[in-house]
Amino acid sequence: MTSVGLRNIAIILTFVAGIFQPAAAAENLPKASPDRMEGRIKALSHFGKNSDGGVDRVAYTDADLHGRAYIISELEAMGLTVRIDAAANIFARREGRDPSAKPILFGSHIDSVPGGGNYDGPTGVIAAMEVIDLLNAANIQTTRPLELVVFSNEEGGLVGSLAMRGHLQPSALAVVNASGRSIADGTNFIGGNISDIASAEVRADTYEAFIELHIEQGGILDEEKLDIGVVEGIVGIGWWDVTIDGYANHGGTTAMNNRRDAMVSAAELTLAVNRIALEMDGRQVATVGRIQAFPGAPNVIPGRVEMSLEIRDLEQAKIDQVYAAVEKAAAEIAARTKTGISFKEIDVASEPAPTDIRMRKIIETAARELGYSYRTMPSGAGHDAQDMVHIAPTGMIFVPSVGGVSHSPNEFTTPDAMAKGADVLAHTILAIDADALEK
Ligand SMILES: [Zn+2]
Repeated sequence: MTSVGLRNIAIILTFVAGIFQPAAAAENLPKASPDRMEGRIKALSHFGKNSDGGVDRVAYTDADLHGRAYIISELEAMGLTVRIDAAANIFARREGRDPSAKPILFGSHIDSVPGGGNYDGPTGVIAAMEVIDLLNAANIQTTRPLELVVFSNEEGGLVGSLAMRGHLQPSALAVVNASGRSIADGTNFIGGNISDIASAEVRADTYEAFIELHIEQGGILDEEKLDIGVVEGIVGIGWWDVTIDGYANHGGTTAMNNRRDAMVSAAELTLAVNRIALEMDGRQVATVGRIQAFPGAPNVIPGRVEMSLEIRDLEQAKIDQVYAAVEKAAAEIAARTKTGISFKEIDVASEPAPTDIRMRKIIETAARELGYSYRTMPSGAGHDAQDMVHIAPTGMIFVPSVGGVSHSPNEFTTPDAMAKGADVLAHTILAIDADALEK
């Protein structure tokens, strides 16, 4: 009884305080500093720097450990309270006026692929740090606590966010990445505690929202000269192994009208996959990226072909629809070419992860009010946000990648573009903070 009563009073006080605060807060917020953001990108780029101008900051390496230490020291210098969970995710908390309110979580990752660049991941972490700097500079205290997160080992399979979702499989713990360490050893090496990994799991009602800012990693925003991408979700991926059985025979003596050529069948199927994905309404993509003929000799009609099929879309129904059309075309091709075509679904596929519609609207409004150009778009690449959609209402903000280059030392986002992204992130967080009060 007592606690309920106190909580009600806290909510009323919060509400009264909140009437005046949030709208004014966004107006008082200074603009993000391109120089400060670029300075932090440069400082972080020293950890794992390679001769190409990029970084090898693979998770669980010394470079990862030292890069994390640099970020932690910066977060502490901003006055945040830093903790590391059992999965080695870093959390930095800034208290709100209502400490019992659900926090707003935002951040990204700082680990890289081998031979990676300086922007995939760090841009989102540094934009999140910029938001804290802006709030500190304007002396704004949000109603809700804010938590900045740096996910562990994003590039090696979204390890940190999978653990938060409670979906890190025990069988994955032995997987060794380019650091030479397993996920279990590596997690402990950078400050986690694998024996207590279950404690990293986060209940679905813990956070008011999660927002990740990230570079686009494609060239659409750069080509269209737009400032901001409002991400509709992370596409789902379906993978199949396709086997085509024909009849291997002599390539010189078998008449053309008497062949069961698995390669001819495979070629027709490849064209059909392309045509189906192209002609159907929507933004689905479908790819045959691997093909092998057996026995694989110039003078033998292929008796068997093995090939891959990949279909991606934001909606599982669309992936299913494309696959059904491919299967139908395959049946027709198989009958005509007297071959057998079979499909086996591979279990590595990932489900589509749509972002929260309310978060998309808040991000769009923030961009519009700041006078920044934007468009909505899907993410064709994977992100921690795809796990976070299962934990909290999730939004994603893309900033342009110059030339669409990513996972390369030539990855680049201009300081101005990063700062505009940080502005949108800051205004988004304040809007979520204000919006929550009205519910
Ligand atoms: Zn990334």
